[in-house]
Order: sequence, then C-alpha cells, then structure tokens
Amino acid sequence: MAINETVFKAIIEDLKSKNVTLVAVSKTKPVADIQQLYDLGQRDFGENYVQELVEKQAQLPPDIRWHFIGHLQSNKVKLLTPFVYMIHGVDSQKLLLEINKQASKVNRVIPVLLQVHIAMEETKFGLDKKELEEIANIVPRLQNVVVKGLMGMASFTENHDQVRSEFRRLKQLYDLMTILFTTNSPGSAFSALSMGMSADYHIAIEEGSNMVRIGSLLFGERSKAK
Ligand SMILES: *Cc1c(COP(=O)(O)O)cnc(C)c1O
Repeated sequence: MAINETVFKAIIEDLKSKNVTLVAVSKTKPVADIQQLYDLGQRDFGENYVQELVEKQAQLPPDIRWHFIGHLQSNKVKLLTPFVYMIHGVDSQKLLLEINKQASKVNRVIPVLLQVHIAMEETKFGLDKKELEEIANIVPRLQNVVVKGLMGMASFTENHDQVRSEFRRLKQLYDLMTILFTTNSPGSAFSALSMGMSADYHIAIEEGSNMVRIGSLLFGERSKAK
C-alpha cells in the first residue's frame, strides 16, 4: 500500500495541536488507498476532477466529507451538488450562482470557499479583492450556498520568502473578508482559510492557515503531473 502510516500519524498529530483541518488530496490515487486512510480515521478527502470524484464517492463509505478542490466548470456543478461537502475553488460569481441554483434543486445549502489569486503565475485561477467585495454584497440573497472562507495557492517555487509573502497577503485579505462577510451574512460562520499543500503547508500554517490540502506527502508522488 502506498500510504505511509507513520507519516500520516505524525502529520495528523501536528495539525490537531494547531487546530488545522487536514484535507487528504487523493486525486489519481486508487480507492484502496483512500480506504486505508479512512480506516486510520481520516474523513476529509479532496479531489479535483469531477468524474473521478463521482466514481470514487460511489465506492467509498458515505460519511466521507468530499472536498472539491479543482477548477470547476459550471456545466459539471450538478454532478457534485447531491453529495459534495465543500467546494474550495469558487473563482467567479457565475460559478457561485450556478452552485446556488443546483443546490436548491437538491434542497441543500453547500459550503464554499472563494479562491483568491495570490500567485505570480498568470495560469492560476482566482478572484481579486474587488470581486470578493462584489460577492459579499450578493451572498445574503443566495439561499443555497454559504461562503465559509477563502482558498489560495502560492506560486510553485523554491523561493520560500515569496511563498510566505503570498500566504501573508491572503491572510490579510481573509481578515478583511471575515469582517465583511460576517457583517453582511451574520449566520455564515466565515472561518476557513484553506492554504498550504505538501511542499508549503508549514509556511501556510505559520501564516495563519487553518485548513491544508495535502496529497503527495500522504499518498506518494502522483505519476502524471496533475
Ligand atoms: C493536487 C492539489 C493539492 C495537493 O498537492 P500536493 O502537492 O500533492 O500536496 C492541493 N491543492 C490543490 C488545489 C491541488 O490541486
């Protein structure tokens, strides 16, 4: 089996002591690996391909909390709304409205995180401050989504100072948005900051993350660059 149990237990213990939620990123990995981590007590899993997630969900225990962490196309939202626990990568108002619409059809209120563009790389997706403010103004009218916080990805670089400063900027924005969203939608419990992956989660936690998305460190390297 690919899971390193010792590594998992050390990570979990460390994160628990810091009140950080672990989302185990299982994309491209077989259901047997997910089951193994589940048997060790892990319940939050992250996937970023819709079809793959739908197939895995059907084969695994129903109490898994599935986090969708990838770039979501509007036409695929309805495949996730019946079961998804949280959608991390909401990067447009259009997508948020579509999630709200599809969630209403299945009578659910779906927790989402707004993705912020913090990296230098142009290829990464995400909203800027102005777009976040616009969304804060419309969410009180949306009955079937609840904005729980922000998500971001730092640049893919060895330069730790740059990664740290990108996370720091996201935390500052998160603090601002906590005030704005809590004022506009008092029931929202805006409280999640999803930042940090295998290579940079220590830095992310030092900069205020309370939810990390860790894949390769738990499941081993992925064969394809996905
Ligand atoms: C793949 C992925 C991760 C996990 O990456 P690792 O480097 O394997 O920990 C985290 N977040 C997102 C959005 C991803 O696509």
